[in-house]
Amino acid sequence: MTQRGRAVLAAAVLVGAALAVPLEAYLKFGLVLGNDVRVLRQALPVRYFVRDLPVEGVSVADLDTAVSRAFDAWAGVASATVRAERVGLTSASPLEEDGITVIGFALQPDLERTLGATHYTIDITTGRIVEADIFLNSRFDWSVAAGGEPGRFDVESIALHEVGHLFGLGHSALGETERQGSGRRLLAAGSVMFPIAFPPGSLEGRRLRPDDVAGISDLYPGPRFQDETGSVTGRVTRNGRGMFGAHVVAFNLTSGRLVGNFTLSDDGRFAIAGLDPGPTVLRVEPLDDGDVESFLQPVTGIETDFRVTYSPQLVIVPRGGSVDGGVIEVSR
Ligand SMILES: [Zn+2]
Repeated sequence: MTQRGRAVLAAAVLVGAALAVPLEAYLKFGLVLGNDVRVLRQALPVRYFVRDLPVEGVSVADLDTAVSRAFDAWAGVASATVRAERVGLTSASPLEEDGITVIGFALQPDLERTLGATHYTIDITTGRIVEADIFLNSRFDWSVAAGGEPGRFDVESIALHEVGHLFGLGHSALGETERQGSGRRLLAAGSVMFPIAFPPGSLEGRRLRPDDVAGISDLYPGPRFQDETGSVTGRVTRNGRGMFGAHVVAFNLTSGRLVGNFTLSDDGRFAIAGLDPGPTVLRVEPLDDGDVESFLQPVTGIETDFRVTYSPQLVIVPRGGSVDGGVIEVSR
């Protein structure tokens, strides 16, 4: 029904350069500098301003509190090192390119399905992030009510998703949707970074999931992350050929935690890091719960007409190491 905006690189020259980095686990934003692909990563702490503009039902103080709770949730991930620092309020708009990171409401009446978005401005000679603005679209109705409010989107939930982009995370495909008119309705999400929001009134989006925790820890690993978690690699094939853009989910049988990633090379290879050690089932599924371009660019060559397929055997994820999950062959 309501889709969140993709994080895009705001500088026009860079739009074509935003891509999923096909090297490591998790979707990150990559930046092409000459012959290098560099992972987009913030210098820490991220220093941000909150826009001094209320909307009906949400005061500036409400917005400020909700945004700082969103940053606190990410900073509270024990296995990651992300930190942010609130500088203060500003009258600057999150739509302006002014060298400061601004988070706040802005009216985007033409964006009928975009609740919010994150735009980066990057110095393309050094790869440094100059600013990363987040707007929440004030064409929608918003709330910060502790119990949620019917008909209104929760500021903290949407801010949590956008702050994930601000730190450099792309979208996760861990969610289930059903078609509703021209859009999709979210039935369940295993990740705050899923591109489609829960309906108005819901507070489900306030809680980071294991998939989010694995993603942020992979991008900004804390000192114990590598030693305490494990990873799995493997390949997805169809008729023996590697498949790009298949969604692969690791399900830990003991903890029940789900962490997903994609095959990110033409020979169908995937890697999923940040996993709990132990017996794990791998499931491969098509990217059919959201527009393919919400997850990966370019979208050419991504097949979605195959059946959900499980790995033929369990893999045992080691603590502090990696296991080869083998080849998973899918078919229609
Ligand atoms: Zn998003």
